[in-house]
Amino acid sequence: MKTVTVLGSTGSVGVNCLRVIKQHPDRFRILGLAAGSKIDILKEQIEEFSPESVFLREIEPAKELKRLFGPKLKIFTEKEGLRTFSSSLNSDILVAATSGTSALLPVTDALENGKRVALSNKEILVMAGFLVMSKLKANPKASLIPVDSEHSAIFQCLEGNRRQDVRRLILTGSGGPLREISKDRFNGLSKETVINHPKWKMGQKISVDSATLMNKGLEIIEASWLFDTPIDSIQVLIHPEAVIHSMVEFNDGAVLAQLGVTDMRLPIQVALGFPERLLASPDMRLDFKEISSLRFSYPDKSKFPCLDIAYEAAKKSGSAPCVLSAADEVAVGAYLADQINFMEIPTIIETVLSHHRHVMNPDLNEIQSIHAWATEETRRLCRAL
Ligand code: MG
Repeated sequence: MKTVTVLGSTGSVGVNCLRVIKQHPDRFRILGLAAGSKIDILKEQIEEFSPESVFLREIEPAKELKRLFGPKLKIFTEKEGLRTFSSSLNSDILVAATSGTSALLPVTDALENGKRVALSNKEILVMAGFLVMSKLKANPKASLIPVDSEHSAIFQCLEGNRRQDVRRLILTGSGGPLREISKDRFNGLSKETVINHPKWKMGQKISVDSATLMNKGLEIIEASWLFDTPIDSIQVLIHPEAVIHSMVEFNDGAVLAQLGVTDMRLPIQVALGFPERLLASPDMRLDFKEISSLRFSYPDKSKFPCLDIAYEAAKKSGSAPCVLSAADEVAVGAYLADQINFMEIPTIIETVLSHHRHVMNPDLNEIQSIHAWATEETRRLCRAL
């Protein structure tokens, strides 16, 4: 029996993670659930999984939980912080499924303590990849298994192969909801169109990132850290059917791909169960009769400037990806709040990057202050528009 804490339990990955755990009650037990503000979903989850502790950002809804569940349930809020909550539980598996960077310290703590981290949050590696990977390497008991579908695919394709035999990683992406819409129409699109991803049901922030292709940009950086691969050896390939979740090409020309339904439970199962393959529910089987074709193309970089912006920041490395991630988070938030229009997202991110004084090897404190600077600078630019 493995104990599990889920950070971001009411988000789409968190909910799917609990669906997987519900299917395997003999293997996993929930110790802790951390949510942002969706208290109704959290209440149901507490009733169903009886965690020891929960974390909720705000104080008022936390009081309500206290009334409902009594002293048996330990409740943490922003006052104690997510890190205190997570380290007090010290569970075997930490699922990091929050968006943004709030789970950075819980993740590095878990790795330091030799635990497994199932990482769905890409901002953490983008912001502080060097620090996270050095914590992972420092404790041989620790493991970091990606939950992002592309990285899970690459992780699976690499199993049993030697890293020095890898020629390149091929990150596939469906192309997002704007793949077939011409660029001059982008600013006039409704938010619903932008958020409505053709293949995956996800949170709002990542849905906008999928529309701008910044999601692929962040994924390149994530892959580079996870698989110790130079940025130039990571290629993005548009594959609208989203049947292949990513591929690895080896020096001898062989390409290994991982296929499956577009269901987050699949990479979650891999991350929780590895090296074991957990039994999937019947609706997760791929029906080959349903697949009439598999198409591939290269991304249109002039239409989606975020991809090149991310490649540039990735090549610069150091503090640039942290600025990229922070600026994107704020710019997407401003777009969702109707403060800026769609095509201003890349412009603003590029401007923030150009205002940043690059630091080659930032430590944790520097990263946090650079992140705070980039957040504030992006807010300022969004307000000025
Ligand atoms: Mg992905």
